[in-house]
Amino acid sequence: MSRTVVVTGSTSGIGLGVARAFATEGANVVINGFGPADAIEATRRELDGLSSGTVLYHGADMTKPAEIEDLIATAARNFGTVDVLVNNAGIQHVAKIEEFPPEKWDQLIAILLSSAFHTMRHAIPLMKKAGHGRIINVASAHALTASPFKSAYVAAKHGILGLTKTAALELAEFGITVNAICPGYVLTPLVEKQIPDTARERGISEAEVRSEVMLRLQATKEFVSIEEVAAAAIYLASDAARSITGTHISIDGGWTAQ
Ligand code: NAD
Repeated sequence: MSRTVVVTGSTSGIGLGVARAFATEGANVVINGFGPADAIEATRRELDGLSSGTVLYHGADMTKPAEIEDLIATAARNFGTVDVLVNNAGIQHVAKIEEFPPEKWDQLIAILLSSAFHTMRHAIPLMKKAGHGRIINVASAHALTASPFKSAYVAAKHGILGLTKTAALELAEFGITVNAICPGYVLTPLVEKQIPDTARERGISEAEVRSEVMLRLQATKEFVSIEEVAAAAIYLASDAARSITGTHISIDGGWTAQ
């Protein structure tokens, strides 16, 4: 029988790559995120065609707890349970703390941190009932180390690692593992969008943002690929990873080794 996987923020970038990898394995997948309706439907169909299961779209806004509850309820109603929950949705905002708009702070914390609390609190009872589950939080190298001008992002990502460890301890005896993936820079729309802002904050060119900011500490001097992150999610969701819980996998080209 197909596993059921919910991936938040999967209309683009890493989340889409993760959803595609699970669909390719034959899972039922609930994709989520923003974008033009026709593009989302094209994505849903493409993934549905890859899977022997069914791929659905749910448009829950990760800043809205009631919509998040409906996302998990929709998965349960259609497929009976949630076997794998991937908390991935994210945005970025780059500014000095004293110029950081308070509403942006709240939005980043809501999407990057609180939404994972809400998906988890609704998915955990389903997983406990089933006697198994996998929760995978797409964190970041910024869960382990900081960069200037990314206060909300770094705070939320450090926070999600704490939530990961706490949930892992609470769920260890229920066959449910909880882990984080900490990618370095992956060239997705989220990263592309912050290049001009970072150039402005640092007073450097966009080319220098890529080479001197993003890839400076990434020892490989290469961006991480979406497929590499998706492969780690597939591994963490596998039976082989049943004893891995409360930890993280860094995929950062050596960034946090420094
Ligand atoms: P992306 O912009 O390509 O995708 C973000 C996804 O989140 C999109 O589907 C978008 O619609 C969705 N989203 C945004 N706000 C939402 C909301 N309020 N409700 C529901 N969905 C929402 O970005 P990405 O780079 O693929 O980022 C995915 C995750 O990976 C994020 O958590 C990000 O912090 C993390 N990450 C990215 C990188 C990187 O270099 N790209 C590195 C480390 C971690």
